[in-house]
Amino acid sequence: MRNKILLVEDSKAVQQMYRNKLTLEQFQVLTADNGMEAIKLLSGEKPDIVLLDLMMPVMDGFKVLQVIKTDSRLSGVPVLVFSAKGQPEEVEKALNLGAAGYIVKSTTKPNEVVEKIRTVLSQRPPEQSFAQYTIEIREDAYDARKLSDDFKLNNFRCALCSAPMLLDLIPEFSHETPWFSGKFFCPRCTARQ
Ligand SMILES: [Zn+2]
Repeated sequence: MRNKILLVEDSKAVQQMYRNKLTLEQFQVLTADNGMEAIKLLSGEKPDIVLLDLMMPVMDGFKVLQVIKTDSRLSGVPVLVFSAKGQPEEVEKALNLGAAGYIVKSTTKPNEVVEKIRTVLSQRPPEQSFAQYTIEIREDAYDARKLSDDFKLNNFRCALCSAPMLLDLIPEFSHETPWFSGKFFCPRCTARQ
């Protein structure tokens, strides 16, 4: 699963550079040009991490940080702030508001920024600890038969050994509502492998 990052930056050049860099590094990148846009976007999205410029027109990064950290839906999302020169009072204010860390924009190389993002992501507490669920489908229930027909699932019987297949559901945490990907497998053949 690719990590989703929200990049909030008013300089189009800086935004473009990081968008390219982070896309290359396999992140899914969302962008906003200012704080107001970021807030609007966050009402429908929950990124895994936010990279937030502090000095922006319309609405600055401090305000965005405040909104994120006081919203129960978003407060767990780590926020890394871009400080133009790393002024102590600016950095302290951001950390007090709940920033996970800061990056001095003028002296930090893109590679180091990516490294920092990965470090912060790796330190996140696991949101939930369940891994996956195994489900059995009743072939006569609801749309089971249609599902079998549409996807050639052989009435949920293994094509090799005819054992009833089971469905593994794997939760995905990047969605608001419970969201799963599913995979049918044969418990008998799987056990033999
Ligand atoms: Zn089988």
